[in-house]
Amino acid sequence: MRRICVFCGSSAGKDPVYVEQAEILGKLLADRGIGLVYGGASVGIMGTVAQAALSAGGEVIGVIPKHLMRAEIAHAGLTELHVTEDMHERKAKMAELSDGFLALPGGAGTLEELAEVWTWAQLGLHSKPIGLVDVAGYYQPLRQFVDHMVTEGFLRPEHRDFLLTGSDPAALLDAFATYEPPTVAKWT
Ligand code: AMP
Repeated sequence: MRRICVFCGSSAGKDPVYVEQAEILGKLLADRGIGLVYGGASVGIMGTVAQAALSAGGEVIGVIPKHLMRAEIAHAGLTELHVTEDMHERKAKMAELSDGFLALPGGAGTLEELAEVWTWAQLGLHSKPIGLVDVAGYYQPLRQFVDHMVTEGFLRPEHRDFLLTGSDPAALLDAFATYEPPTVAKWT
């Protein structure tokens, strides 16, 4: 794995554990020599994960659309900052630069980014691993909803398995290294 894309909140969350775990992930990526690709902001746990990776000597590539340059306060000290025309170009660029995707806790933006790479995997458009960093059980309600999709016949069980989930980011990175994607395509 050369680079991992991290989706996460542009807010810090209520519990300090979210910031703490973002710091741990940023440092972990740098220590393993894995570059971080993310949304380029200095706010929320987006800023935390980037700063932690930079402070530990890691490569950090930000990808931010021009209309969010001010709102998300682009991080000034990144290894590289790509400024895109819009959100679509941003997500495509983040995906292109990365060998896998991790979601830390976040809000609607994080969910949208996660859903997009999940659906692309389901359609066979990429075969890169996707993981949920389940900090303090944050993603358990989503896991339950995904189970509900399967129970109700809207999601194949194999496609649920695209979302690797765990509380330990090191274990998720280990799983990424040996990842074999589910082989059942959505439309075959
Ligand atoms: P949030 O999880 O809502 O704090 O947002 C985290 C990241 O997702 C930020 O970089 C936002 O720019 C981005 N984001 C917010 N809304 C969207 C959206 N509709 N589509 C894609 N990315 C978004």
